[in-house]
Amino acid sequence: MYLPDLSLIRSSPSLPNGVQRLAVGWLEQGQPHSTGEPSTKVLARLTLFKEVNLYFGFHVCDFCGNAAGNGEIHVWGRDPCLFVAPVMIHHYMSEHRYQPPEVFLRAVLEGPSPESKSYEQFNYWYAEGGWEDVDFGLEASPPNYEFPIADTADLYGS
Ligand SMILES: [Zn+2]
Repeated sequence: MYLPDLSLIRSSPSLPNGVQRLAVGWLEQGQPHSTGEPSTKVLARLTLFKEVNLYFGFHVCDFCGNAAGNGEIHVWGRDPCLFVAPVMIHHYMSEHRYQPPEVFLRAVLEGPSPESKSYEQFNYWYAEGGWEDVDFGLEASPPNYEFPIADTADLYGS
């Protein structure tokens, strides 16, 4: 499944929180994508994200046929927005020098770590659609998370 980087994935109209879901890394042979040396910091952090939405099925690397994975990873960025990338993105970057857009690289390093409570809170807030329900402790506003600013040198390899 090819999707141009940063294309908008239609959200369910029933979700009032207005989170934009943006596609990153849905590559396909013959379709254009940027390349460059990957950052070891970005690659290390990417391995922490657990795959979700496994029902899209098994996907074999279109470029070498040597790697396969299924599912997506969810990376929270500023505003907040949700980047949806295939699990294979790590392979694409490390083996095929795929370079995702800078906003995504920043989100990987600056967004809440998948092992953190904040990440869990973002997912919960998103899943609940931003409905405010005081009785159940649900908040209409996104979790309070201060996005740090990563050093640009950490976003790219050398
Ligand atoms: Zn490959």
